[in-house]
Amino acid sequence: MLQVQNLRAWYGETLALDGIDLHVGEGEVVCLLGRNGAGKTTTLRAIMGLLKKREGRISIQGKPTEGLPPEAIAHLGVAYCPEERGIFASLSTEENLMLPPVLHPGGLTVEEIYQVFPNLQARRKSPGTRLSGGEQQMLAIARILRTGARLLLLDEATEGLAPVIVQKIGQTLEMIRARGYTVLMVEQNFRFAASVADRFYVIEEGRVASHFHRAELETRRDEIEALLGL
Ligand code: ATP
Repeated sequence: MLQVQNLRAWYGETLALDGIDLHVGEGEVVCLLGRNGAGKTTTLRAIMGLLKKREGRISIQGKPTEGLPPEAIAHLGVAYCPEERGIFASLSTEENLMLPPVLHPGGLTVEEIYQVFPNLQARRKSPGTRLSGGEQQMLAIARILRTGARLLLLDEATEGLAPVIVQKIGQTLEMIRARGYTVLMVEQNFRFAASVADRFYVIEEGRVASHFHRAELETRRDEIEALLGL
């Protein structure tokens, strides 16, 4: 689904990614881990085409994205859910939901979204600001499921949420996996990541420092904890 080879990207003159190599297979849930400032968010943003200055090869379902703007990358079936969630305060839940255009057949209808997220239906008329952090995160995810994107880039979905809500986000990701979506996520909460992802990349100074499968979490525990500073 996604291939990234030797990805380098800059903010102005500052090099932020220094040769990232990774791949995500169709239907996989893959997580980027690493310390603050390592380059995880920048990797998602570069894949979405949000960093103009980038080099290397990124392909989505075999199609190279070199030189493409974010809207063209969205047309390849990719959606990005940023850490700050991007919920519009002055719009209702439903208006936020309806905002992004449906780009592909197969996106969830509003009715299907309300079946999956009944709390959003209960809050459909509430302005974005009235939603709790957890509800905002659900809305941010629901909104991209409507577009029909099949590759979801999720940045720190659990940031700032209470443990019980983190659990709900975990259930949402399970639902997303069961429906065959592909997910590349950034996560600081290692325990949460370990419970939802199939594979992991540790990013360090703009490069992949290590890569492991869920099955290796125990066998390589000391190495992984050292890398993440746990
Ligand atoms: P965090 O969890 O803190 O967000 P991260 O691994 O996601 O960490 P990035 O946000 O990708 O890290 O940042 C990678 C590097 O790029 C850091 O050195 C950061 O200071 C720098 N950087 C991030 N955003 C910008 C920006 N808008 N302008 C300039 N430099 C930036």
